[in-house]
Amino acid sequence: QSDQFKKLVSHCKEYGFIYQSSEVYDGLAAVYDYGPYGVELKNNIKEYWWKAMVQMHENIVGIDAAIFMHPKTWKASGHVDAFNDPLIDNLDSKKRYRADVLIEEHIDKIEAKITKEVTKAAKRFGDSFDEQQYRSTNGRVMGYQEQIDTITKRLAQAMTDGNLEELKNLIVELEIADDTGSRNWTDVRQFNLMFSTQLGNIAGEEGKLYLRPETAQGIFVNFLNVQKTTRQKLPFGIAQIGKAFRNEITARQFIFRMREFEQMEMQFFIPPGSQADWYKYWKEARMKWHLALGTPQSKLRFHDHDNLAHYADAAVDIQFEFPFGFKELEGIHSRTDFDLGSHQELSGKKLQYFDPESKESYVPYVLETSIGCDRMFLATMSNALVEEQVPGQDDPNNTREVLKLHPALAPVKCAVFPLKRNDERLVSKAKEIFNQLKFSFPTQYDDIGSIGKLYRRQDAIGTPYCITVDFESLDDNTVTIRERDSLTQERVPIERVEQIVKERIDM
Ligand code: ATP
Repeated sequence: QSDQFKKLVSHCKEYGFIYQSSEVYDGLAAVYDYGPYGVELKNNIKEYWWKAMVQMHENIVGIDAAIFMHPKTWKASGHVDAFNDPLIDNLDSKKRYRADVLIEEHIDKIEAKITKEVTKAAKRFGDSFDEQQYRSTNGRVMGYQEQIDTITKRLAQAMTDGNLEELKNLIVELEIADDTGSRNWTDVRQFNLMFSTQLGNIAGEEGKLYLRPETAQGIFVNFLNVQKTTRQKLPFGIAQIGKAFRNEITARQFIFRMREFEQMEMQFFIPPGSQADWYKYWKEARMKWHLALGTPQSKLRFHDHDNLAHYADAAVDIQFEFPFGFKELEGIHSRTDFDLGSHQELSGKKLQYFDPESKESYVPYVLETSIGCDRMFLATMSNALVEEQVPGQDDPNNTREVLKLHPALAPVKCAVFPLKRNDERLVSKAKEIFNQLKFSFPTQYDDIGSIGKLYRRQDAIGTPYCITVDFESLDDNTVTIRERDSLTQERVPIERVEQIVKERIDM
């Protein structure tokens, strides 16, 4: 793990964003709990998504479907037969891995070599450095790129064909070793990712239930209920936020890949034939959503799928540059009529839309946007956490850790401090302001420590505004309001504080 990533993980714990699940029992792999600031940030991410999708689109409505669904759902959706990952064991270390992830990590390592070469050259050439040109003329870099291209192509083909032997060949040929340095691999075999459990009153296979591995199916089976009860006409969408469960083999990278996680999904029902246009529309709309949160364009990119899932006729990922490289953050999938068609077939119930204009009934096509809430959380945190020289100070050793979250996402919007905690008048004035502001947005009162320490703590949890009550406040009812990123301080009348903060935290 890179130092930057380690820092992020420990920051999440130290400041109450994320804890390991069941930590007193040494934790449960790939399961995490959100702490007091984590839950606020996560709720804000969900709210921002919900507003953008449901509130801002008159033709998108929400639902909250149950996690348990009739077991036939997962037969129809293809998850019972095809929701597999290729599994490989290492005989020496007795550790288990996902074959395609091992190969991807090998590719990441080659990519890191390229990055190293490029960074070195950029330093050497200074302003005159042309990265594009360097990449296409430097022999060593071109060699690495060729390796990456060949491996990526073979991996994609093997995944599309379900060719487990080829995956094993790749691992052996590339001399991939596991964490312990050992290379004694078994054959690759398929592993189903669904967690199963049992209904109490039905014995055996009949009572077997699954924890949903995606929220989408709860939307598909409710398609007609929602369409009829809300009198929607095509195109229209159904959005949902909820838990999903996958028995992931590779349990690394913190909350990037969890066994219990949350998804924010939207299924957009459209007439067949219009999928290419809607695919384009949602690709652009979702990218705009990320950019509006202040995520730099350079950290986001589209990545077309090399191998399409069984349900899709087109699919693209929005990738984010995590501390461990560009990885999938969100998927946009053109799912055709696969899901509704399968449910219709297996249930024997019509899942069709009656078009009032053409007077025809048909199974709609579906365009899906699917983003992991936890992955969005990780992207948001890794984007926001910076260690920097304190603005306005000359001493380069005077640094601070600050979480530059978009104010709309910040867990606490405003903190109020008395300049001195042992002055009764300052304390009571500060508490009075706090007690007023807390009705409008999440606010904190704090006086445990020097004013400098209080500011640092709020910086570390990303609070955009700090209000300090000083002696002048007692005379003229004004306070200072300090902005987190620029550290500018303004003197404002107390009665205007609420208005000022409100205006700035609004999306
Ligand atoms: P991956 O290839 O990383 O396993 P996927 O392609 O299987 O992901 P989808 O089935 O498209 O993912 O799920 C949609 C979104 O749900 C992903 O873009 C991701 O943000 C999130 N997601 C999927 N699996 C996990 C997980 N195990 N932990 C956290 N988020 C996840």
